Amino acid sequence: MVSDSVRAVQEEFRNSMINSENKKSVKFKEEVFVDRVRRKVLIFTEKSLQPVLNLSGTILHTNLGRALLPEEAISAMTEAASQAVNLEYNILEGDRGSRDKHVEEELCRLTGAEAVTIVNNNAAAVMLVLNTLARRKEVLVSRGELVEIGGSFRLPDIMTSSGCKLREVGTTNRTHFEDFENALSSKTGLILKAYTSNYTITGFTKEVKEADIIKLSRDYNIPFVVDLGSGSLIDLKNSNVTLEPTPLKKLQSGVDLVTFSGDKLLGGPQCGIIAGRKNLIARINRNAMKRAMRCDKLTVAALSAVLKIYGNPEKAVQKIPTLRLLLRSEEEIKNVVDRVLPELRFHMERMATLEAVDCQSQVGSGALPNQLLPSAGIAIRLKNKKSSNGFFLSKVSEVFRKLPIPIIGRVHDNAFILDLRNLENESAFLKQLEFLPKNWDF
Ligand SMILES: *Cc1c(COP(=O)(O)O)cnc(C)c1O
Repeated sequence: MVSDSVRAVQEEFRNSMINSENKKSVKFKEEVFVDRVRRKVLIFTEKSLQPVLNLSGTILHTNLGRALLPEEAISAMTEAASQAVNLEYNILEGDRGSRDKHVEEELCRLTGAEAVTIVNNNAAAVMLVLNTLARRKEVLVSRGELVEIGGSFRLPDIMTSSGCKLREVGTTNRTHFEDFENALSSKTGLILKAYTSNYTITGFTKEVKEADIIKLSRDYNIPFVVDLGSGSLIDLKNSNVTLEPTPLKKLQSGVDLVTFSGDKLLGGPQCGIIAGRKNLIARINRNAMKRAMRCDKLTVAALSAVLKIYGNPEKAVQKIPTLRLLLRSEEEIKNVVDRVLPELRFHMERMATLEAVDCQSQVGSGALPNQLLPSAGIAIRLKNKKSSNGFFLSKVSEVFRKLPIPIIGRVHDNAFILDLRNLENESAFLKQLEFLPKNWDF
């Protein structure tokens, strides 16, 4: 490992000398060389995936791994990882079973679906639905819903990759019922509604009523599918959070299929869930692509455990971290601020001014794009520096990222902000403060 790294660094030096205009400008310094070799060796020996403290104010941060799992799901995963399990084995009959069976009953009950199937993520779910029901056919989508979710989920591209022809209907801001009616033909494979997860169109707008599309799809016997993105399994009626339409509501209203993610508002492992009509799910399960997108045993174990918790909604909002953090009251978060602020002051007061601030968290991952959740946090500004200077704020942010457990905040309002909504492990946070540099000379 060491000699490979030495060779690689030698090669890098050689190349930079060959490629530089003035050969003499590339200096060979032993310390630099050794340091680069050391860093290369560390890549092989240190964990690349490591815990961080997400104080960004985004509950479901895709780049930070989205939903945190409840204890029950973690122990179910550990069990499935270390032992043989009846993943596709029917213990009673002693013959082959189905891996989806472990979550089927609960998902059908919670979504009101006749049948369900699960795959690797929601992008896969959408592709599988399109490929099964509308390959070589046209898919009608309102122009206002041609979404791009971060991380390369772009509806038009998904359409092409699934072998479907996108038939755009209406205009960006206004789509009428007649637009759908006129677009329908013998080439139509399905009608798709994509939940506009991360934007809204306001002003002179018109959307076709879902009930009208449902009727149209019935009359022409064409499946109507809604990509919900973030499917919430419970209605948080008594909280100040309005959750987007649940899969249950959609299917009850007559939508044929819905698709949603397992690691967004559901608060489970990464997976995609397709729920709805039995005959359509049966066709989807016969598609060879389903085999290529199937969930592994760890996902099945975790999802099954999370769904069991939903059996008791009052427990669910306590035990499932995503729901618990979503419903955490401003007062509770302020208490966290009160507890950790003095400690942070103790370690940083010489370099920075610290202030308890009101801030706003968001759900993230495209869920509830218009709802900001009142939260509380700490604003950090450097002393003796132009606080509005982006360079110094990015340096502060870097100092926090370089702690043994990196602390991820955000730069906002000319300050480095730590939103404490997501901070449950206070002792891990406080432990990091001991590693803050004593002197901040940027
Ligand atoms: C998030 C989202 C997806 C992609 O889901 P993944 O689980 O990330 O694959 C697709 N459609 C919508 C509307 C979404 O919000």
